[in-house]
Amino acid sequence: MTFATLGLIEPLLRSLETLGYQTPTPVQAQAIPAVLAGRDLMAAAQTGTGKTAGFALPLLQLLAMEGPKVAANSVRALILVPTRELAEQVHEAVRQYAENLPLRTYAVYGGVSINPQMMKLRGGVDLLVATPGRLLDLFRQNALKFNQLQTLVLDEADRMLDLGFSEELASIYRALPKKRQTLLFSATFSDDIRLLAGQMLNDPLSIEVSPRNVAANTVKQWIVTVDKKRKPELFVHLMRKGKWKQVLVFAKTRNGVDALVEKLQGLGVNADGIHGDKPQATRQRALDRFKIGEVQILVATDVAARGLDIEDLPLVVNFDLPIVAEDYIHRIGRTGRAGATGEAISLVCADEVNLLSAIEMLTRQTLKRQNEPEFEPEHRVPDTDASGQVIKKPKKPKKPKVSGGGGKRNLGKWVDSGDAAPVEPAVKPVRKVPVFNTGPRKRKP
Ligand code: AMP
Repeated sequence: MTFATLGLIEPLLRSLETLGYQTPTPVQAQAIPAVLAGRDLMAAAQTGTGKTAGFALPLLQLLAMEGPKVAANSVRALILVPTRELAEQVHEAVRQYAENLPLRTYAVYGGVSINPQMMKLRGGVDLLVATPGRLLDLFRQNALKFNQLQTLVLDEADRMLDLGFSEELASIYRALPKKRQTLLFSATFSDDIRLLAGQMLNDPLSIEVSPRNVAANTVKQWIVTVDKKRKPELFVHLMRKGKWKQVLVFAKTRNGVDALVEKLQGLGVNADGIHGDKPQATRQRALDRFKIGEVQILVATDVAARGLDIEDLPLVVNFDLPIVAEDYIHRIGRTGRAGATGEAISLVCADEVNLLSAIEMLTRQTLKRQNEPEFEPEHRVPDTDASGQVIKKPKKPKKPKVSGGGGKRNLGKWVDSGDAAPVEPAVKPVRKVPVFNTGPRKRKP
């Protein structure tokens, strides 16, 4: 199969040739003809599967072949994305695909001045990539009209809900014409997303190119167990031992990101961090420098977990496990993209055992443990498996400890009593059946 047999026009085929895309990926093979035929789409595709081209190519073709010239302050196709980085990335891909077409494309997002965006929109834009908040600001300030809108794309739809954008999305839908084509893309599909899809999509074609909620099988994954306080030391040890050149590291909190970056910089390592407290320009600069190899270690909160395409990224390290198990898939999806191989290492301490268990259940695999001799934890991480059970070790019952801090007490209760009840999580409870059971979560990483 070729892109030509999918019905793409010559200017797009030329762009693809320049980019070196030879064969459509499975999601492209299914999405392109469907979108060209005007169908609504509900697509579950892993990160790195080529989904951006799956919706952008046919969309650009429809814009070039059909419909009126774009009017002032109008937009004909809208791609909504959850983060600013993703907006830049998707727009960059769109720009490359549209190289040989007379179409105007643009990206708007928050964290930067709104005035240049308003100026740019005056002339009208055929295809606009936007984050929901800034799009609404522009609409409310009359910088944007939607009466010419023919297609809406929701990219990373589940992430948008995770980030608490459901109200913004509802306001945006109300402002859009009822008659339109809608394409919904999401790496994972929760009940909330299915509900949203039911409200928004008209007789959608469902595409599922990979088993639901399964991480890319090109990523070699394992964990190293360690005591919480020794994680920074272990990280540095592994970094030196493995001679890591380009690593994306995920930490749970903004403070955690800053602390690790500071430690690494103190050791003379070229490290930088991105999280939601940093201005957009700083975040983008750190990411750009990481992509071209000027920054060796980029530490991030989950704001960086989705959608970012970093060419040939060899390694992702989870310095902390994510609180929401699905985020594990998105984090490790930064490596092993477009068929490349990659590695994902997670540093796991005892009070993360429930998070580990939720990840193993979601990904239907037991993560291999590879311990570092010098870093064997004092607080053992109980065994887990893909059934979601934290496995007790019945053999050596010990006397309960009488004293100890919160974390220690939890662990003590667990190991010492031989009780099969799960350890009380140190953080928010993990959803037990994350595949199908999601409530609305409001969380800004
Ligand atoms: P995405 O999942 O859209 O983020 O795409 C992941 C990566 O795959 C990007 O770097 C794309 O440029 C690349 N890519 C997408 N489609 C193809 C294709 N058909 N052939 C080769 N590379 C592709």
